[in-house]
Amino acid sequence: MAKIEDKNNGSNKVAVITGASSGIGSALAIEFAKNNYNIAICARRIGRLMSLGREINETYNVDVFVSQSDISSKQSCENFINKTIEHYGKIDVLVNNAGISQRALFNDLDLEDFQKIIDTNYWGTVYCTKFALPYLLKSKGSVVAISSISGFSPLPGRTGYCSSKYAIHGFLESLRIENLKTGLHVMIVAPGFTASEIREKAVVAGGKEQGTSPRDEAKMMTPERVAEKVLRGIRIRKRTIIMTPMGIAAVWLTRLLPELMDRIIYYHLKKEDNENYKLLK
Ligand code: NDP
Repeated sequence: MAKIEDKNNGSNKVAVITGASSGIGSALAIEFAKNNYNIAICARRIGRLMSLGREINETYNVDVFVSQSDISSKQSCENFINKTIEHYGKIDVLVNNAGISQRALFNDLDLEDFQKIIDTNYWGTVYCTKFALPYLLKSKGSVVAISSISGFSPLPGRTGYCSSKYAIHGFLESLRIENLKTGLHVMIVAPGFTASEIREKAVVAGGKEQGTSPRDEAKMMTPERVAEKVLRGIRIRKRTIIMTPMGIAAVWLTRLLPELMDRIIYYHLKKEDNENYKLLK
């Protein structure tokens, strides 16, 4: 755990972001800092977090609290939130962003690897939300999940990933109703394809990382654009953000024409198959 520097800029608001060592999480940390939030960030790669923390601290007049945490561990999430409270005394926004993806057919995937995806994406979200909730209720703050279109539409080769995102939706949609009268804001965000390390780090059969991206990352949304939309969503207390026209079409077609959508998804994703998973012709 490390505090970069308390610049004490007078801003009261505190945002907690999991998985800030790359991609959308790093962009969120910068976007919150730009908007004068003090931030608490975590991930496993502490070196990356420290340099992001220093960069933010030098550029923006905010305080950064950095923690090396593995969000698949309940204890690690509890420590992270407790240390954040010791440091700031409050939490206004929790963004459950950390996640890992998958590129393997269920038949080829070890259950331990399936479990790792659920532990990180789903349980990490449940743990951090549980420990932060008393403070979010006090501040009438926001709990946010960076979910995915895969939380609305199924995808082959991602049984564990889709399960984790669907489960996050069930959890947060229910939490929202429980808190209809408490002032808690609950927001689910589904970015479209966004340039990041998510595909490179995706778990393949045998438990290794995919190592490369099978898609053209340069043609995707930028993490900075995602972060801007998330901050706007928090400001106007949106319920759900589904990004990109393709994402919106996928969500609605899955609801309205599920059988047609099965085929569209199959043939679209077939283009992505490689040595890690193959769909039949
Ligand atoms: P990245 O791989 O770039 O970032 C993932 C982040 O999660 C990293 O900071 C990583 O840090 C952290 N993380 C992973 N496992 C753990 C863990 N056990 N404990 C703590 N931190 C962890 O991917 P993205 O930025 O793309 O992903 C962010 C979120 O956005 C994910 O939830 C993903 O599902 C979602 N998303 C991404 C899309 C995309 O196309 N990029 C599309 C839709 C949704 P470290 O390895 O240092 O621990």
